Amino acid sequence: MKKHNFSAGPCILPQEVLQKASEAILNFNDDNLSLIEISHRSKPFVAVMEKARSLALKLLGLENKGYKALFLQGGASTEFLMVAYNLLNKKAAYLNTGTWSEKSLKEAKLFGEVVEVASSKDKKFSYIPKGFNIPEDADYFHCTSNNTVAGTQIHEFPETNVPLVCDMSSDIFSRQLDFEKFDLIYAGAQKNMGPAGTTLVIIKEDILGKVEREIPSMLNYQVHIDKDSMFNTPPVFAVYVSMLTLEWLKDLGGIPFIEEVNNKKAALLYTEIDRNPLFKGIVAKEDRSTMNATFTLVDEKHKETFDKLCAEAGINGINGHRSVGGYRASMYNALPLYSVQALVDVMQELERKK
Ligand SMILES: *Cc1c(COP(=O)(O)O)cnc(C)c1O
Repeated sequence: MKKHNFSAGPCILPQEVLQKASEAILNFNDDNLSLIEISHRSKPFVAVMEKARSLALKLLGLENKGYKALFLQGGASTEFLMVAYNLLNKKAAYLNTGTWSEKSLKEAKLFGEVVEVASSKDKKFSYIPKGFNIPEDADYFHCTSNNTVAGTQIHEFPETNVPLVCDMSSDIFSRQLDFEKFDLIYAGAQKNMGPAGTTLVIIKEDILGKVEREIPSMLNYQVHIDKDSMFNTPPVFAVYVSMLTLEWLKDLGGIPFIEEVNNKKAALLYTEIDRNPLFKGIVAKEDRSTMNATFTLVDEKHKETFDKLCAEAGINGINGHRSVGGYRASMYNALPLYSVQALVDVMQELERKK
């Protein structure tokens, strides 16, 4: 039986997606060739790219609204610098809510003035700062919707007239938001959409073309848009598997359906963390993430037993990030409710055994 996979990334994918992907490796489209050995300019692959791009916009409700979807390379980490390269003229505003925000901020500083509007570093990123001001003259405001490492999530986005840029790597397609509020969204595929190797970028095209600097082609969003996300050889396998996952999600009922499941999973686990005297949550309750739940044992002496019980139950990937410690259960879209129940059962078994 497959393990209960709580890995933070690369993460669990739907079993039927893995099945279809493995078939396509051997024989794609009944053409007796592998998906990964045909031209990316061939009709069958161009159709895959087009479908992946249109499904992404459709699921987010952004079709025919001036947005373009791109599947790029270099991970979300390359977007940290591409965003600034393409959008930062003089000044950008950043909200610092964790490791990934910090990294994006560092890259932006190479291109202009960066105002850190607020930071939760004072408490190890265990909460989301609120009530900050975004300078009206900023070229854009950047935030991280879900902090994969600390386990916090923005539940209310600030109102601003400044273009809104968001790193949604670890919660894209997990919950309904007013996506039209955002001018640029990016997400590494390997958290909630596919395998590592591609990054989805959703751009409102009219925010481009406002910086004066020359932009190298590979780092220029407009170049990728003009070439329909095929400026160079795209990561064909990663795009194909992402397309399959987006199809899977659409067939289930899209974001409204999966959001309900995700809320149930998160409620099940957090209720147990709060109830069970052996465990405690790490971050502020109102800022908890539905995707990555971080918690610790109240008494470290139970660690060996708990880890052993988890291993016996086939629970994988719940060790906390090295910078936080404790445990982190990542509950991305493809993680079934019964896997969360399996973890809760083990937490209760520990309580009985101790
Ligand atoms: C994992 C992660 C990243 C980094 O993604 P790479 O694809 O490894 O560059 C950036 N932001 C967030 C929120 C993440 O969870």
